[in-house]
Amino acid sequence: MNVVLFGPPGAGKGTQAKELSNYYDIPHISTGDILRANVKEGTKLGKEAEQYMNRGELVPDEVLIGIIKNRLAEPDCKKGYLLDGYPRTIPQADALAGILEEIGMPLDVVLNIDVPDEELVGRLSGRYMCKCGESYHIRFNPPQKEGICDSCGGQLYQRDDDKEEVIRQRLESYKNKTQPLIDYYANKNLLVHINGEKGINSVFDDIRVVLDKYVN
Ligand SMILES: [Zn+2]
Repeated sequence: MNVVLFGPPGAGKGTQAKELSNYYDIPHISTGDILRANVKEGTKLGKEAEQYMNRGELVPDEVLIGIIKNRLAEPDCKKGYLLDGYPRTIPQADALAGILEEIGMPLDVVLNIDVPDEELVGRLSGRYMCKCGESYHIRFNPPQKEGICDSCGGQLYQRDDDKEEVIRQRLESYKNKTQPLIDYYANKNLLVHINGEKGINSVFDDIRVVLDKYVN
């Protein structure tokens, strides 16, 4: 079962990836995580990547793809993999297709968790913090008294990153970057849309209906 997972910030992609990885016993491969692991372990590619990171530059595609290829060669990928955070560009998607072909593990399906912008804005911009370290969410975990911390009575505030305007910019930028990839995989007949507006468990069930077809 070879899967790539897409979803905008706030779609619950990380949660689903974790659940799916447990359920199907396939590794959740986040490129950020394996990149950091390679740097930490000082692998050849990790050292190469580190040079770029230290200069504040993006790690080039050929280094990243090498790291992914090595990761996919590990024994826990025998039953499949769940790739998250990669590819981000069309050249990366082409490079990925190349190595997957080479190692005989082509993609079965690309899942895109769809959630309307308004819903994402509601989910992502509802967070409020208190100086004491508590955090709240207007919808999911509201304080008893609006704007006031339950545990210390302090005034709640919103971090800049959680403000609606910033969230909308983030979503717009995600969409601009990701849409070409969605189209790319749709053209290859690999794309399946998942309605991410439902609750976590319903979304998980819907994904299972798709992925169960690929269980060996
Ligand atoms: Zn507080």
